Amino acid sequence: MLVFVVFRQIVVVSKALFLDRDGVINKEVNYLYKIDEFEFIEGVFEACSFFQNAGYLLIVITNQAGIARGYYTEDDFYNLNCWMVKQFEDRGVKITKTYYSPFHPQYGIGKYCKDHWSRKPKPGMLFQARDEFNINLSKSILIGDKESDIEAGLAAQLGFNVLVRSGHQISENSTKADAIIDSIQNLPKLFSKFEKQDCFTQKLSI
Ligand SMILES: [Mg+2]
Repeated sequence: MLVFVVFRQIVVVSKALFLDRDGVINKEVNYLYKIDEFEFIEGVFEACSFFQNAGYLLIVITNQAGIARGYYTEDDFYNLNCWMVKQFEDRGVKITKTYYSPFHPQYGIGKYCKDHWSRKPKPGMLFQARDEFNINLSKSILIGDKESDIEAGLAAQLGFNVLVRSGHQISENSTKADAIIDSIQNLPKLFSKFEKQDCFTQKLSI
C-alpha cells in the first residue's frame, strides 16, 4: 500500500498601511529627533487603530536626511522611534516595523552620501517590507505629505496613494495621488468610501 502525504504550505499574504512619519504621524518639524518636539497629529491613533482592526499591518517608511547631514545620529532616531512606537502600543496599536533611509545623494556626509535605493521617491523600503512580511502591495495603502511619497507608492504599484495637507505644502493640481485629505484623521472615512465602492482606482477627494 502506498501512502501519499501531501505537505501543504500555508502562505499568509498581508496588506499594509504604509505611513510616512513627519507631516503624517507627527507635525512637521525640520530635522526632528527630540521627543519634546514630537507632536502627534490629532486623530492618528484612532485612524491607525481603525486600519489595524481592518487587518492592515501598520508600517512606517521615513526618509531621515538629518542623519545623512550629521544633524543627529541613527541612535537619536532609534530612541525617538522607540518612544513613538511605545505611544502607539500604550493605545493598543502595533506598529509592525519602521523602515528609514539615512542617506542623501548630495548633502550626506561620508557613508551617508549616496543616491540610495531606499530613499523615497525610490520604492526600496516598500519592497523591503513586502519581502519581509509577505505583503500584497496592490492591496495596500500609502499615506504621505510629499509628492516623493506618492512617487514611491506609484513605483511600487501600491493599491492606493493618499496625500495629506497636514505636512509640507502640496501641489494639489499636479499630484499623482489617488486622493487628497486634510490629515490622517480623515483616512478611515475615505477608506470606508472606497471599500464600499471597490474603487481603488477612482480618484477621490474629501
Ligand atoms: Mg513627510
